Amino acid sequence: MSTLDQNIEKLKGLLTRFNTGIQNRIAGEDRGGALGEFDNTSPVDKSLICQVARGGAEDIDAAAHAASAAFAEWRDMPATQRRAILIRVAEGIEARAEEIALCECWDTGQALRFMSKAALRGAENFRYFADQVVQVRDGQHLKSPTLMNITTRVPIGPVGVITPWNTPFMLSTWKIAPALAAGCTVVHKPAEASPLTARLLVEIAEEAGLPKGVLNTVNGFGEEAGKALCEHPKIRAIAFVGESRTGSLITKQGAGTLKRNHLELGGKNPVIVFDDADLERALDAVIFMIYSINGERCTSSSRLLVQDTIRAEFEAKLIERVNNIRVGHPLDPATEVGPLISAEHFDKVTSYFDIARQDGATVAAGGETVGDQGYFVRPTLFTNATNQMRIAKEEIFGPVLTSIPFSTEEEALQIANDTPYGLTGYLWTNDLTRALRFTDRLEAGMIWVNSENVRHLPTPFGGVKASGIGRDGGDWSFEFYMEQKHIGFATGQHKISRLGV
Ligand code: NAD
Repeated sequence: MSTLDQNIEKLKGLLTRFNTGIQNRIAGEDRGGALGEFDNTSPVDKSLICQVARGGAEDIDAAAHAASAAFAEWRDMPATQRRAILIRVAEGIEARAEEIALCECWDTGQALRFMSKAALRGAENFRYFADQVVQVRDGQHLKSPTLMNITTRVPIGPVGVITPWNTPFMLSTWKIAPALAAGCTVVHKPAEASPLTARLLVEIAEEAGLPKGVLNTVNGFGEEAGKALCEHPKIRAIAFVGESRTGSLITKQGAGTLKRNHLELGGKNPVIVFDDADLERALDAVIFMIYSINGERCTSSSRLLVQDTIRAEFEAKLIERVNNIRVGHPLDPATEVGPLISAEHFDKVTSYFDIARQDGATVAAGGETVGDQGYFVRPTLFTNATNQMRIAKEEIFGPVLTSIPFSTEEEALQIANDTPYGLTGYLWTNDLTRALRFTDRLEAGMIWVNSENVRHLPTPFGGVKASGIGRDGGDWSFEFYMEQKHIGFATGQHKISRLGV
């Protein structure tokens, strides 16, 4: 039996547990959706995976009350005990990493070669933030002439976490682990297109000893459950990952209850290749950063800015490699690109094939769909593009790269920054002073020089402009999930102004 067939057999066994559907999980209990159910289908063959509870305002209200009721116990639990529970969550994820990866692939269409690591990265998120639980509340003392001023940090309260469908397990842990480590309780609203692994996560967390109500999962649609979560008065903050226009809605919906929002949004990230770069390594990184994870990744380098002196040679090699990328079943270990998440997203991505031609670009590779069973497309490269074309301006969020030539450093910088987004930038040059100048002026929250995106958990992750507000990672995560508190103690009899004497 091939590895693909073995994986399919394993998956079939795992999916039987979803035959009865996915319920919401509130205060450690299963609960149907107030608005009924919706179908969850696989992008691989469009088959029904399971029914999912369709949560609405009523379910969010129950979950917010559960999170609120559980808050004091979780906040006040000794840090070492909270840390131990979060470490057990990490161990639970590791123990079920294969199950998580297989389910994630079937639910999202992501290839197993990337998703097996995503599950383990989820465990790593829990370990990393668990290790900071013990000191996370520590503050400073800032002595003044008359007062001993101390600062301390306290968890903000119950928070909402709203996540998208691309690498949903990893992204959920990325938000939920620091929230729990900070001492917050959570209501999680996973993406409607990928509910399977959010269910596995809450189960693993409860098995690890997380008290009831500390993590609650409400499934459903953004404009129903998601909106109600943003509007709920008991929820103190919303950590959101998704599209920029949804981020704007999150802000509006939370205005009435003065929500603190952390927004991780879209991107149209440039990778700039100068002719003095190590072109073989640059080529590998350019390909990896747009065609891995189906190109459905916020940090993908979807605009290639290539210097005109090397453009012909670089694009020729690129075309050859892109045409070689293996599109196939996500559970086949050889597959590099799987199907896109949904019919709607497939229609959006494929619509750019004609848009590119109409705008005068060349479809140099791909530009076509594959089979009619699922939502498969050929990895695509557009050349002869300008930065004014829609293929260079809009986030396509698929395995689609737009190549734009430049001649000077100044021109490259101007094109790179000429976008509403500012999440990541990738620079390839061996000229050190140029790298220093360029990175200083490039408008992006994260920049890598002579490297693909390599995540290091202590570093700040987030975007500028329409790509987001706020940072994750290291202590930045805790700044969001916690309140800084100042307390001043008089050290003597300093003069107090006397009124009405
Ligand atoms: P989306 O904005 O459509 O949905 C994200 C989540 O928001 C889903 O759970 C959805 O149900 C919910 N939602 C939708 N409308 C809502 C509303 N009115 N109120 C509350 N919640 C609502 O995004 P998507 O299509 O699922 O994900 C793809 C997008 O996510 C891309 O733009 C991508 O760049 C972005 N993304 C960003 C990062 C980052 O770190 N910056 C990471 C991953 C994905």
